Amino acid sequence: MNRRTIVAANWKMNGNLNLVEYMAKRLNQVQLGENVEVIVCPSFPYLSAMANQLAHDNIYLGAQNVNVQQSGAFTGEISTSMLQEFAVKYVIVGHSERRSIYHETSVEIADKVKAVLAAKLTPILCIGESLEQRTAEQTEQVLAGQLQPVIDAIGIEKFKDVVIAYEPVWAIGTGKTASPEMAQATHLFIRQFLAANNIDVANKVPLLYGGSVNAQNCEALFAQTDIDGGLLGGASLKVDEFSQICSTVKGS
Ligand code: PEP
Repeated sequence: MNRRTIVAANWKMNGNLNLVEYMAKRLNQVQLGENVEVIVCPSFPYLSAMANQLAHDNIYLGAQNVNVQQSGAFTGEISTSMLQEFAVKYVIVGHSERRSIYHETSVEIADKVKAVLAAKLTPILCIGESLEQRTAEQTEQVLAGQLQPVIDAIGIEKFKDVVIAYEPVWAIGTGKTASPEMAQATHLFIRQFLAANNIDVANKVPLLYGGSVNAQNCEALFAQTDIDGGLLGGASLKVDEFSQICSTVKGS
């Protein structure tokens, strides 16, 4: 099954206009493998500058969050139509920091996925278990509990337009990456969970791994059968390392 390979950058609340300029310049020169896509998700204020400076057929702009409402009295929030005005194609939804710090529930996240799809943007739906949950052997239960509300909200068919990022919370920003075998086993569980609802859709969904991915470990991780690329935080802020990862990644 030929799925596209995706390398996505989540800058979180980091970066500045200098980084936008330097990163865009470098990424514009990168030769990507066949069927490889890169997505850069800077903070909202930098979307415009990034949109103006990125000039590469297979590099897209993403946002880190969105509100389900279209407009109105929602101070500090951003709608899908606003994102569309800045050439945004992808939206990260349900990052573990949104779940833990801002208490977003799986049902609220499912509504965001629905709103993003309704705007013809592509959600990057993040799911993942905490260390306590993995230690207690609850990983599959937790992932199922994060996926099911989205299936209930949008229906399994619409998952063909969704990207899923599996990000074990204990691996995010900690330097502790899941081993390629552990990540593959969890990705296989996610694909099988989707396949139990619709096997064709399950085979189409790109499953990204996130959690301390870097230039040293990305090749082994991305070589796994059910790992279709990565969502990178820390490494995506380093121009040399990120562009190196993008150019070395092999497409499917
Ligand atoms: C992330 O923030 O989604 C992430 C995976 O971060 P890091 O690569 O720094 O672990």
